[in-house]
Amino acid sequence: MRTILGYLRPHAPRVAVGVTVKFTAAVLELLLPLLLAHIIDDCVPARDLPAVWRAGGLMLLMAFGAAFCNITANRMAAWVSMDMTRQLRRDLYQRTLLLSQAQLDRFSVSSIVSRLTNDTYNVHQMFDKIQRGGIRAPMLVLGGLALTFFQAPPLALVQLGVCSATFFSIWLVTRRGIPRYTRAQEAVDTVVRILRENAAGVRVIKALVCQERERERFAAASRASKEAEEAAGCVMAAANPLSDFLLNLGLVLVVLAGALLVDRGRMASGQIVAFLSYFTLIQTATLGLAKLFVKFSKGVASGRRIEEVLLAPEDQQVRAPGEAPGPELGMENVSFSYLGVEKDLDGASFFLNKGETLGILGPTGSGKTTLVSLLLRLYDADSGVVWAGGRDVSALSREDLRGRFGAVFQNEALLNDSVYENISFLRGLSREDVTAAARTAQAWEFIEALPEGLDARLDIRGANLSGGQRQRLLIARALAARPGILILDSADSALDYRTAAALHAAIRRDFPGVTLVVISERAASLRDADRILVLEDGAITAQGTHGELLETCGRYRRMAELQMGGLT
Ligand code: ADP
Repeated sequence: MRTILGYLRPHAPRVAVGVTVKFTAAVLELLLPLLLAHIIDDCVPARDLPAVWRAGGLMLLMAFGAAFCNITANRMAAWVSMDMTRQLRRDLYQRTLLLSQAQLDRFSVSSIVSRLTNDTYNVHQMFDKIQRGGIRAPMLVLGGLALTFFQAPPLALVQLGVCSATFFSIWLVTRRGIPRYTRAQEAVDTVVRILRENAAGVRVIKALVCQERERERFAAASRASKEAEEAAGCVMAAANPLSDFLLNLGLVLVVLAGALLVDRGRMASGQIVAFLSYFTLIQTATLGLAKLFVKFSKGVASGRRIEEVLLAPEDQQVRAPGEAPGPELGMENVSFSYLGVEKDLDGASFFLNKGETLGILGPTGSGKTTLVSLLLRLYDADSGVVWAGGRDVSALSREDLRGRFGAVFQNEALLNDSVYENISFLRGLSREDVTAAARTAQAWEFIEALPEGLDARLDIRGANLSGGQRQRLLIARALAARPGILILDSADSALDYRTAAALHAAIRRDFPGVTLVVISERAASLRDADRILVLEDGAITAQGTHGELLETCGRYRRMAELQMGGLT
């Protein structure tokens, strides 16, 4: 928690002022019952009305003072906790942007999202509540008990007993209830996820006539959510009645014990009223304290989860560059495994000159995306060397490496913004560059036909475009910064043969120096590549030009014949 606590340091003066103000409010609140007892025991029996007015006026003044101090301190606490959470969330977000792909896989994207939202919220709540109640509640409990003890020890013991029972019972109930609420929240998340999946895949569901199965899946998730909510509600249902019962029990016990003391002449009757006030103060503060403890333990757990990300070590160091320049793009005996169990890429070697085209062909799961991810250094190879732009990728800085590549992956995100912003993608590119990239990507024709052209707004995830239009926008985005190496991972899967061919020709025409890596299921898209890799189970089983592979690789020949018929 040391890192998280560090976020509080710049606000220390404000926190100190807030705590002092809270302290003053608590002292005022503790003095009120004493004045009340004074009015009942001294002023009323003496029929001294002016003294009643004086003491009453002072009580009012103190009550106003306490309220003013509490409001001021609460506002300061809210400001401090909001500001520190904002900074914490900003740093956490920036750190997540720098996490390597392997670290992102390890944490999982949904966990990162919940750390950025739920966990920062819990830390915010913890600091807010500690500043508000961390001083006030213990002071009211201890101060109230001390003042009672000073005047009537038996009554203080009664209060101490009831308050301890309240603290532990509420603490236990809440502690048991919170994990159940967390489970209930997770169950709701599942329901939302199914709804989102169904909304996104509604066409597939209808086409494959899966409605019945989906209905059952939704009903099961909905049932689980209801049961989890019931379990949580069942436990928490005890909290308020229990604290009300203990409050009433305490009030009765204070009155009974007080009456006995008055009867024996050891206490004035007005003091009973003061003790009842103390008891209510102490009891409310005890409840607050029990809840504070729960918020604290949640906040600490969340703080640790945030720190895990903030303190994650940089796992992709940039090595000193070697002397000899390497090929423009390539691999030398590269092996890699995601989970360290079996090799997902096994001894891959290939080389490519600047301006050449590499085609990658292989069935799903054969390692095509893995190979490209290693070229981009999204992951580090377990062994071997990966070359990009003539340099070992592990000797290139992150910016240098990313600056050399443009890449289009499947299912990439489009922003709910203008066409221009989707292509420029926060890089502030000129409209000329964006237009040129759109032309090469075969996207200009449909962009021009949109009512506002480049300024037309896309729906969330580009829902108002066809699959092929979305893909062409993504290709334009990758081209717009004029990369040295362009990776197209199944980027033409939603394009018809003619558009795909026009796209490849346009890239070669408009970007003659670009080194191209094309992953495609279509042999026709790879036909003109200078080198084609055939991948199977993580290994390059054959490589060469289209002509060479037709002669040497039976698998390639069969596929080419199947897809292109007489075109081979
Ligand atoms: P392709 O692109 O040819 O369809 P991939 O390169 O995506 O294949 O996957 C190759 C193998 O690596 C598959 O067995 C796949 O299950 C595995 N794999 C891919 N990504 C991950 C990951 N993030 N974690 C663990 N295994 C992965």
